[in-house]
Amino acid sequence: MTVIDGRAIAQHLRDRVAEEVRAFAAEHGRPPGLATVLIGDDPASAVYVASKRRACAEAGIKSFHHELPAGTAREEALELIDELNADPRVSGILCQLPVPDPLDGDELTGRIDPDKDVDGLTVVNAGRLALGLPGLRPCTPAGVMVLLGETGVELTGAQAVVIGRSNLFGKPMAQLLLAANATVTMCHSRTRDLGAVARTADVLIAAVGRGRMVEGDWVKPGAVVIDVGVNRTEDGLIGDVDYNAVAPVAGAITPVPGGVGPMTIACLMRNTLQAAQMRVAAEA
Ligand code: NAP
Repeated sequence: MTVIDGRAIAQHLRDRVAEEVRAFAAEHGRPPGLATVLIGDDPASAVYVASKRRACAEAGIKSFHHELPAGTAREEALELIDELNADPRVSGILCQLPVPDPLDGDELTGRIDPDKDVDGLTVVNAGRLALGLPGLRPCTPAGVMVLLGETGVELTGAQAVVIGRSNLFGKPMAQLLLAANATVTMCHSRTRDLGAVARTADVLIAAVGRGRMVEGDWVKPGAVVIDVGVNRTEDGLIGDVDYNAVAPVAGAITPVPGGVGPMTIACLMRNTLQAAQMRVAAEA
């Protein structure tokens, strides 16, 4: 059984991105830039944004940080995004969600120029993914694809089961697996006999937000199990997979923490570089 080391794979990806960022900056006279927009005073959001900015500094990506107070008017927030859309130094824009009421996170995200949408969450980028067109992909499912690739998992013809159908993760995950020629089943809260469906999987991906829901007898012997869940408990972070029960059955498994989590920021750095590269290619 292989324990998939997300920390090591993410660091390797970040090192590769840093190298390409240096080459980009040398060729174009400036590095890629990532604008982060943090609205309100949610402490978890502040921690996420701070770690994204640290990752930028480490990769040589210039970060442009904007903090707006909780009472910010809708028009003011939209105006900031319009300014960032127009700023040639800014390759990618990230509006940290959730935003405080009455602001609408979907509206703010939707205002981001799709070619700067490094979270891959705009309607245009979801459409590009669905149609198999090039574009910026959501970071966490893109990170899972890197983990599967680095682990040498053969996806062509494989039976993949994704538990969870959110726009943020489950739907784009299924699209990426389909594009990699897997046969994909999506499960959700109304799926009948989830355990039986999960047991058909060669690749089982859980993104629900219910601690240790995937049990040992839900897993086909030798299957690859990817645990996207992040559940805070008194004992610390746990995943959606009952690791101790599943690990002896699985062929490969991601731990929580240290599995999927570190890939998200690494892919955000990769997307920012990709956005900068796409921009110069379009201008050439
Ligand atoms: P979400 O928007 O709440 O979606 C959860 C999905 O799980 C929904 O599709 C829901 O089905 C399904 N579900 C709920 N209860 C279920 C049940 N009993 N059986 C089967 N399916 C069930 O969550 P999300 O944003 O996709 O995130 C899912 C988990 O991944 C969370 O723990 C989150 O923290 C984690 N996550 C981690 C990262 C990372 O960087 N590591 C990134 C993103 C998400 P319905 O659609 O029918 O309601």
